[in-house]
Amino acid sequence: MTYTSDITIIGAGPAACAAALTIKQHAPELSIILLHDNRRKHRAVESLSPHAGSLLRRIGVWPQFLAKNFLPTYGTSAIWGSEVLHSNEFIYQTEGQGWHVDREVFDRLLQDIAEAIGITCLSNTQYIRHKDSNEQIQLITKEKDILNSITTRFVIDASGRNGAFAKRMGAEKQFIDHLIAVFGIFESKNSNKKPDKSTLVEAVENGWWYTAGTNQNQQAVAFMTDADLSKKLNILEQNSFLAYLEKTQEVKKRSLDLQFLGALEAFSAASFFLSKMGGKQWIAVGDAAYTLDPLSSNGILKALRSGILGAYATLDFFKGKWESGLEKYEKLTFAEHDAYLKTREEFYKEEKRWSTASFWQRRGHALKP
Ligand SMILES: Cc1cc2nc3c(=O)[nH]c(=O)nc-3n(C[C@H](O)[C@H](O)[C@H](O)COP(=O)(O)OP(=O)(O)OC[C@H]3O[C@@H](n4cnc5c(N)ncnc54)[C@H](O)[C@@H]3O)c2cc1C
Repeated sequence: MTYTSDITIIGAGPAACAAALTIKQHAPELSIILLHDNRRKHRAVESLSPHAGSLLRRIGVWPQFLAKNFLPTYGTSAIWGSEVLHSNEFIYQTEGQGWHVDREVFDRLLQDIAEAIGITCLSNTQYIRHKDSNEQIQLITKEKDILNSITTRFVIDASGRNGAFAKRMGAEKQFIDHLIAVFGIFESKNSNKKPDKSTLVEAVENGWWYTAGTNQNQQAVAFMTDADLSKKLNILEQNSFLAYLEKTQEVKKRSLDLQFLGALEAFSAASFFLSKMGGKQWIAVGDAAYTLDPLSSNGILKALRSGILGAYATLDFFKGKWESGLEKYEKLTFAEHDAYLKTREEFYKEEKRWSTASFWQRRGHALKP
């Protein structure tokens, strides 16, 4: 099958949908294709920052978002810097109500709204490679086992950490760390014992734990550490995971009397940014451009914002002002990333209890030249 479009967006997550919806608001005449690679594994639960409300309004999805009744959250409890449990309104933020979102439901909502306003969403479709000539790019995609082609004028890489297109265009990932997340799920078999829906973070010698109840009767528990340390700790092995969990002060209490469902899942949570955010006929947005430490709980917010900013740069391309559009986008994105790095550094430096442990040493010193 052969398709044509003015713009092809690789990915169908929050950055992709925010970009598509923003472009359609300003230039409804431009045709847009979204590629949705459904093979992606979703995490059990993610927190959506209170500040996301204004962006969801801006891209025109607020009433539909509210209608989903995602679980409200009012902050995070943390054991960080001392053994005292303290509460704060999200780790990096100071006010408002956030939400626990089931990412499958959230992403589907955005995709459905995009489709309803005339954006083509090709599901089960993966970008494989491309050829470019002067004016057009020909993308080769795979739908299950069938190869298709899309002829397009502009590509937005919103493929998340994969950065599938940017990589082929020579953009390099500059890594800040090699954090990984190992998730285990616990379930309540007893109707009187409900999982605790609030978010709890606890620092330990080799990283930090995170736990939150999901919308089902389940409690997600994750250990965040560096990839090399995870091997030394053997944390992907169930008994080691449970033994380290048992050593925590507060997180273990959340899983008491709940049944461990067994299979552990590991996700890359590394922080990186791209050496360049775009090129002749393309731009990278969301996690494809740069990633945040999950400690910030701001990844979805950043993806929405970056998708919106990337959309304005893309509109500049179609107005014949691409050079200045890309320059503005890169400048803003690098400035936001610098500000984020400072906050991240300050936050990690608050924890001084394990000053000789590699995990904390790397965070205290990693950002110095
Ligand atoms: C362990 C962990 C916990 C997190 N917790 C939170 C949290 O609590 N709150 C929060 O705000 N953020 C959290 N984040 C971050 C958040 O998940 C991301 O920042 C956010 O999903 C980025 O959105 P995106 O649209 O850029 O990319 P993604 O959501 O990753 O979407 C990428 C899309 O591209 C598609 N894709 C990939 N490759 C291809 C290809 N070759 N062809 C076609 N499509 C492709 C994927 O299928 C997907 O649809 C967490 C991250 C991690 C690792």
